Amino acid sequence: MRVMKFGGTSVANAKALQHAAHLVLCAAVNEQILVVVSAFRGVTDELLGLVHSAARGQPWEARWHALAQRHRQVAQELGILPYQPLDELLEYVHAYCSGVALLGECTPRMLDEIAACGELLSSHLLAAYLRCEGGDAEWFDVRYAIKTNAHFTAAQVEWQLTATAVETELRPVLDRHRIVVTQGFIASTRSGLTTTLGRGGSDYSAAILGACLHAEGVEIWTDVSGIFSADPRIVPDAVSLPQMTLGEIAALSAYGARVLHPLTIVPAIEHGIPVTVRNTFEPQHPGTQIVDALPEAQWGIRALVGCAGYLQQGMPFPGDHHLLASVHLRGETYSITASPNGMADQAIDLICAVGEHLHAEGVALKQIATAAKQLSCRVQVVASARYCMLIRVEQCSASAFIQALHAVVREQLMEMAK
Ligand code: ADP
Ligand code: ASP
Ligand code: MG
Repeated sequence: MRVMKFGGTSVANAKALQHAAHLVLCAAVNEQILVVVSAFRGVTDELLGLVHSAARGQPWEARWHALAQRHRQVAQELGILPYQPLDELLEYVHAYCSGVALLGECTPRMLDEIAACGELLSSHLLAAYLRCEGGDAEWFDVRYAIKTNAHFTAAQVEWQLTATAVETELRPVLDRHRIVVTQGFIASTRSGLTTTLGRGGSDYSAAILGACLHAEGVEIWTDVSGIFSADPRIVPDAVSLPQMTLGEIAALSAYGARVLHPLTIVPAIEHGIPVTVRNTFEPQHPGTQIVDALPEAQWGIRALVGCAGYLQQGMPFPGDHHLLASVHLRGETYSITASPNGMADQAIDLICAVGEHLHAEGVALKQIATAAKQLSCRVQVVASARYCMLIRVEQCSASAFIQALHAVVREQLMEMAK
């Protein structure tokens, strides 16, 4: 049994959804598939925007119409209309927002109830399309399987309850069907109230279910061919890395690379389940595999992420040692800390150079200096840890420095990618 998670980028429209569905149908020829799906791209934001507007007494009906129209349009292009679950869910969102508008307030519990509808909608449409294409696909409400505490909008998993519920509720459905389609991001409390696992939480759902079901693999399908040496939107010739460690991913995501949050995949890694990041639109590409360690030949700068106006983005940056990210796995703690002196009063541009054993790497410092010289800018390594070096840049933009440093390390990356 394999878990295939499709992010919002993989289900942004009918064409993307068809791509995803055909990947599932192909995979299901050889093994049983659990599909975990996110809301269509932008829909969670839209739902939250809707309900906030309703609570503030602002107009929301036009936005609801647009949301309904987008889903109906996709359903029509997929050839699955009329489809009762779609109408019922859209009506539910409408009724809920009307209630919120009357009340004039929206609690975190209500936010979760409405945010969950994005994944409920997308999973229903994907399941219906898979059936339409001849797949033995069943829809499953993941709220019966993933159980959390009542910390709405960022709920914590109740592992014992979840493990039991996965066996009693989800396993029998998997035993009866070749493909089961369920939702990422959402869960419920013991008493059945809807919760969510935090933004971007669908990766976490995939890992939780993969771990509880002892899946053979968890595949995170997105719109890029794995994890790259830099955000491909900033550095077009960034290199896809065949392997990455959890520490490297922790450092990348601590500085805002949204491709994968390290905490989300810990449950799967802990159970020894292979996790890969793949591209829905380039399925022949092997993507990136998450590994425990890298051979010495792969040490050094392997990825770059930047953050312009660091303080302005609301991240705390006290002068003291500050913990930016901490992941615990098999007795080891992957901590990313920074101790920049006297910077707390101004917004700064920071680059994070990511790689294994960077603090022991004189080569990395040389590469940083080369890039700075080329750009005639001032740089300062403000902190360094096993997985990252934090570089403050002045007199040039964060993205310009990322591009320059990437050009310096690219050849070495190409070697590693072979
Ligand atoms: P999904 O909707 O599939 O969950 P996300 O938007 O959460 O996708 O993550 C994928 C995006 O992450 C990519 O489109 C890419 O722009 C961005 N990204 C940022 N940094 C990187 C990186 N180093 N490697 C790959 N993708 C990255
Ligand atoms: N739809 C949710 C979000 O936008 C979860 C996810 O996409 O992973 O945050
Ligand atoms: Mg994501």
